[in-house]
Amino acid sequence: MRNSGRPAAVLFDRDGTLVIDVPYNAEPALVEPVPGARTALDRLRREGIPLGVVTNQSGVAAGLISVTALRQVNRRVDELLGPFGVWAVCPHGEADGCACRKPRPGLILRAAHVLGVHPARCAVIGDIGRDVEAATAAGARGILVPTLETLPGEVTAAPETAPDLATAVERLLG
Ligand SMILES: [Mg+2]
Ligand SMILES: [Zn+2]
Repeated sequence: MRNSGRPAAVLFDRDGTLVIDVPYNAEPALVEPVPGARTALDRLRREGIPLGVVTNQSGVAAGLISVTALRQVNRRVDELLGPFGVWAVCPHGEADGCACRKPRPGLILRAAHVLGVHPARCAVIGDIGRDVEAATAAGARGILVPTLETLPGEVTAAPETAPDLATAVERLLG
């Protein structure tokens, strides 16, 4: 049974969810929060709910972005929207067959472990199908907040959708 009460932790996708998606961004100056992200995150922080980021960064495997540049970009996200209790990052490519690349559950399981909560008590908010598929695979609650890039089929298939982060967070807080 899916958990429907307040989550013990909320995990966010990075690109297209917390920050405007700049594909394979290696430039901290290009980090721009999604409107309302700071407010939504702070609302959860005020409730004492631990937060994390779960992000696929296959640009590392593809050689499109260095680990150093990725760290710098993530640090910028932290400056603008942090602090987060955990950053769980998959640097692998599709062909690596890792356990962490969403829609696999590895990032969510790792983040839940670091935060000391059960995955089934986590909520995951993301902008594409593989975010909420990973949530389901981990036994967590997934909420899709679509952007203009989100495929209609992914919206239809999502277990839950919300028009923006504020709405998603309000629903989680019940
Ligand atoms: Mg995304
Ligand atoms: Zn991985």
